[in-house]
Amino acid sequence: MENILKQLPQKAKEAEAENKKFFAKLKKKPPKHLDTLMQDLHEKEFERTDCLTCANCCKTTGPLFTDKDIERISKHFRMKPQQFIQTYLRMDEDNDYVLQSVPCEFLGPDNYCSIYDVRPKACREFPHTDRKKFQQISNLTMKNVAICPAAFNIVEEMKRFIK
Ligand code: SF4
Ligand code: SF4
Repeated sequence: MENILKQLPQKAKEAEAENKKFFAKLKKKPPKHLDTLMQDLHEKEFERTDCLTCANCCKTTGPLFTDKDIERISKHFRMKPQQFIQTYLRMDEDNDYVLQSVPCEFLGPDNYCSIYDVRPKACREFPHTDRKKFQQISNLTMKNVAICPAAFNIVEEMKRFIK
């Protein structure tokens, strides 16, 4: 996995022009079976990819925290939401709460998430490759393929299935 992660930014860069073209076409005319295809590709990829050998999303980006996430996680720590925010979060340029620093404070040396059961919604859903109307998150996905090896493989598979 270490090698795969090392090569990923370069591979994503090389695929960028093709991905841009592919997603522009997908946005204009998404195939009718896109939702089921994405479910299928997502499930197959995550049968092969073990996130515990990777954790690159937790190490390099980290999630956005919604108000509900903050409420749930601060309760878990028996902290006041404001105290949780001051300890772990900052507001980014889009006025969203994000981690003060990466790797994420809640990631253990064994790549386990110490708040797994109450983790942010964005962590549960990353890399969003099984969401419906996948064509709507093309820009985000083009960024994610440089971070997440599973997302990279899923997009490569999509290009094989959708001509
Ligand atoms: S979601 Fe992607 S980046 Fe995150 S741990 Fe799994 S494979 Fe790695
Ligand atoms: S909260 Fe957990 S899943 Fe989310 S970035 Fe941190 S360690 Fe990863």
